[in-house]
Amino acid sequence: MTRLFDDPDDFAADSAAGFVAASARWVRPATGGVVRSTRGAEPTVAVVIGGGSGHYPAFSGLVGPGLAHGAVMGNLFASPSAHQVHAVATAAHEGRGVLLSYGNYAGDVLHFSQAQERLRTAGIDCRTVTVTDDISSAPPAERRNRRGIAGDLVVFKIAGAAAEEGLSLDEVERVAVLANERTRSLGVAFGGCTLPGAAEPLFTVPEGRMAVGLGIHGEPGIDEVDVPTATGLAELFVSSLLAEVPDGIDVAGARVVPILNGLGSVKYEELYVVYAAVDRLLAEAGIAVVSPEVGEFCTSFDMAGASLTLLWLDDELERLWHASCDTAAYRRGAVDGRIVVEGAAVSSEEEVAIGPATDASRRAATVVGRSLDAMASMLDAEADELGRIDRIAGDGDHGIGMQRGSRAAAAAAAKAVAAGGGARTALQHAGDAWADKGGGTSGAIWGEMLVALGAALGDDVDVDASAVGAGVARMKDAVMAFGKATVGDKTMIDAIVPFSDRLGTRLAAGDDLVTAWAEAAETATSAARATADLTARLGRARAHGDKSLGTPDPGAISFALITHTVHDILKGDD
Ligand code: ADP
Ligand code: MG
Repeated sequence: MTRLFDDPDDFAADSAAGFVAASARWVRPATGGVVRSTRGAEPTVAVVIGGGSGHYPAFSGLVGPGLAHGAVMGNLFASPSAHQVHAVATAAHEGRGVLLSYGNYAGDVLHFSQAQERLRTAGIDCRTVTVTDDISSAPPAERRNRRGIAGDLVVFKIAGAAAEEGLSLDEVERVAVLANERTRSLGVAFGGCTLPGAAEPLFTVPEGRMAVGLGIHGEPGIDEVDVPTATGLAELFVSSLLAEVPDGIDVAGARVVPILNGLGSVKYEELYVVYAAVDRLLAEAGIAVVSPEVGEFCTSFDMAGASLTLLWLDDELERLWHASCDTAAYRRGAVDGRIVVEGAAVSSEEEVAIGPATDASRRAATVVGRSLDAMASMLDAEADELGRIDRIAGDGDHGIGMQRGSRAAAAAAAKAVAAGGGARTALQHAGDAWADKGGGTSGAIWGEMLVALGAALGDDVDVDASAVGAGVARMKDAVMAFGKATVGDKTMIDAIVPFSDRLGTRLAAGDDLVTAWAEAAETATSAARATADLTARLGRARAHGDKSLGTPDPGAISFALITHTVHDILKGDD
C-alpha cells in the first residue's frame, strides 16, 4: 500500500519533482521527463528510454553518463504520450541520432512510434529497440511480442555504453538488438500493488499462492502454485530460463550475468537467500557467473514479487556491460571529464494556436465541450467497472486511463471553446490532452480519434448530420490505420466499425442525426458485448487470449458507453 502522497492524481508528477530535486548530479528536468545534467567532450548517440511511472529505478534512475541520455516519464503504469517522448528525445539529442528503447507494451509502442515518425520528419535519425525479455508473456515462436521487464536494464546499459564509446547509431542499435536477443527473464508475484489513493490493490494473488509470470502491471501469469521455499523459487527460475537458452549458445562454459530483481516489497535479505540457490544452480549447470546483480531494477510499487534475468554474454556484451556508468540508481567504475549543463530542457513546441472559426463551427465546438464533460462524468462513475473488466485479461488500468484522459480532454476543450476555437481546434486540443494524460493504448487511440474527427469537421464549415457521419467514418479509418487492428481482434475497433457503419446507413436512409446516432449507439453496445465471445489478438490482453473469453473488451465497452453519453447531449441540443 502506498501511504505517502498529497493529491493522488498528482503522484507521478510530485514524485518526479522530488527525484529531480534529489538528483541534480545526474539529471535535469525536461518537458515529459528528465535528461542528463552533464555532457561529455564529444557528442554521442542519445539513448532515450521510458515508460509509465511506478517502476523506479526504471526509468529516470537510469539516466546519466554511460547509461541513458533521457527518460520519458508517463503517468502511473501508463505510457508517456508521443508529445512527451518527442520532447525528451529532442532535448537529449546531441546531433548523432536517437535510439529509443523501452519495454514492449502496446501503449508504449503506439506513442514511441508516433514520436519516432515526428523525429524523423524533423530530420533526426531515430531507431527503436523494444525490450522483450519476459519469457512468460508469449511462446518462443512469438518472442518479438513478449513484454519487457527487468531485462530493460541490460538493453539500456549495453546501448548506453556503446553510445559512450562513440559508436554510430547503426552500431548502438546493433548491440542493443543483440543484448535483447541474449536476455531472458521470468517473474513471480505473491501479492499485487496498490496505487496511491486506491482503496484496493490493482490485482491480487490468493494467500499462500504464487503467480508465475505475472506482469509488472498485473498482467495475468501463466500458472499459479503454492508459495515455494527460496530454493524452490530459484529452481523454478533457473530451470525455466535454462529451457530458453538463446540460439547458438552452449550452456556449459557460458558466461552469464544473473540479475535477481525485487518488485517492491520483497526485501534484500530475502533476495539473497534466493540468490544463494541461483548461484549454486547456475554453477551446477556449468555456467560462469559474471558480476551478478541483486536488488531493485524494475519495480511495480509495493508488489510482492521477484524476477530473475539472465544475460548470455559474448565478448562485446561483456565489455559493454562492464563499462563505467554513473546514474542515480546504477553505478559502476569511475566516470570523469563531464561538463555540467544547467537549466531545465523545456520543449519549445508551440501549442496548437486557436485559429479563426465560423460561428457554426464554434457552436459545434460547444457541443464537443459538453459531450466531453458528460463523458468525463460518466467515466468517473464507470471507472471501477472498466478497471475490473481490464483486469481479467489485461492490466486493470482501463478505467483510470479513460478517467484521466477524458477529464484532461474536457478541460482542454473548454479552454479552446472559451478562446473562440471551432470544432477542429477544440477536438485537436482535447485529443492531444487525452493522449498526454490518459496514457496507455486507449490514450493514444482516443487522442488519435478526437484529432481525426476534428480534422474532418474543420473550423469553418457547418457541422450538419452528414458532416458528422462522414467525420465519424474518417475517425474510424484513422484509428484503424493508426492502431492496425481490424474487426475480430477484440479491441474497441469491434464497436467502432459497426457504430460508424450503422450511423452512415441510417443517415443515408434519411434519419435525423439524433435518431441515427441512437440506433448506432445500440449497435455499438451489442457489438461491444459480443466481444466476450472473441479471443484477444492484440494489445495487453493478447498474451492471455483465452483468459479473455467470456469477458468483453474493455475498450469496446467504454466506446459504447461513450456513444450513449454523446447521444444524451445531442438529444438535449435538438
Ligand atoms: P493498455 O492496453 O495500454 O493498458 P487500456 O487498458 O487503457 O490500455 O486500453 C485497452 C484497450 O485498448 C483495449 O480494451 C482495446 O479496446 C484497445 N486497444 C488495444 N490495442 C488496440 C489497437 N491496436 N487498436 C485499437 N484499440 C486497441
Ligand atoms: Mg489496460
